[in-house]
Amino acid sequence: MQVNLPNTEIILRLEHVTFSYTSSPVVEDVSFSVSKGDFLAILGPNGSGKSTLLKLIAGLIKPDSGQIEIFGQDIERFNQWPRIGYMPQVSSVRPGFPATVEEVVLSGRVGRKGFFRRLDKADKSKVQSILEELRIDHLSRHVVGELSGGQYQRVMLARALACDPDLLLLDEPTASVDPETRRSIMELLNRMRSERGLSIINISHDLDTIRGYISRVIIFNKRIIFEGTPEEMDVHLATQQQILEAIAASDHHHG
Ligand code: ADP
Ligand code: MG
Repeated sequence: MQVNLPNTEIILRLEHVTFSYTSSPVVEDVSFSVSKGDFLAILGPNGSGKSTLLKLIAGLIKPDSGQIEIFGQDIERFNQWPRIGYMPQVSSVRPGFPATVEEVVLSGRVGRKGFFRRLDKADKSKVQSILEELRIDHLSRHVVGELSGGQYQRVMLARALACDPDLLLLDEPTASVDPETRRSIMELLNRMRSERGLSIINISHDLDTIRGYISRVIIFNKRIIFEGTPEEMDVHLATQQQILEAIAASDHHHG
C-alpha cells in the first residue's frame, strides 16, 4: 500500500516542553511544530514566557522536561546552529563596545563560513545589501552604541539575516521602528520566505503589522491558548479585544 506523505517538511517540533527559572513554570507543556516556509506569529501579553520559549528553541536554555527537535535532530545533539538566525528582544540598553554596524552584521556570517575561513568581498557585499534592504546602509561605519533603539534593532535583524538562515527566530523585531520601516521589514521577510522557503517564528505584540504575512498564529500565555491560521483565528476570535479576553480567561484556568 502506498502512503502519501504530505509535501511539507517539519523543521521544528516541540513536544511537552516545560521550563521554569524558579519554582513555577514559565513555559508549560508546550507542543507545536513548524514546517518549511511557515511564518508563525506568537502573540501574548508581557511576561507570558514568549522570549523564554524562543530561547529554548535557540538552545540558550534547556527544557526541564519535554523534547525539542530541529531539522529532524534532537536539540541536544543538534550542531548546525548557523542554519538558525536568532534575533533577541532588544532592550533599551545598547552595548557600549566600540564595534561598527558593519562589523556587528559581518560577525553574523562567521558561523556560516566556518571559523577558519576569512570573510571576503562577497561577504561584505552580502552584508551591504542587507543593510540597504533594512535602510541602515548609511550607518555602516557608525559605532552601535550611538544608534537609536530602532536603528539598533535593525542591526540585530541584519545580523540574524547575515548567516543565510533556514529558520529565523525573531523576538519583537519591529517593536521600536516607524510604520514604514516596519512594512519594509515585513516585505523583506516575506520575500525571503517565498524565494527560498525560509521559515520564520516572529514574536509580536502587534497583530496589525504582521497579519497579512503570517501563515499561522499561536496565542501564548505560558501555554498555547490558540493555534491555527489567521482565518481560523478570525472565526474563533473576531477582535483584538476577544483575543485579550481569551488570554485573561486562560490565566484564570491555569492560574
Ligand atoms: P515575555 O517575553 O512574554 O514578556 P519572558 O519570557 O521574558 O516573557 O518572561 C516570562 C517570565 O519569566 C516573566 O515573569 C519574567 O519575569 C521571568 N523571567 C524572564 N527571564 C528570567 C530570568 N533570566 N530569570 C528569572 N526569571 C525570568
Ligand atoms: Mg519578551
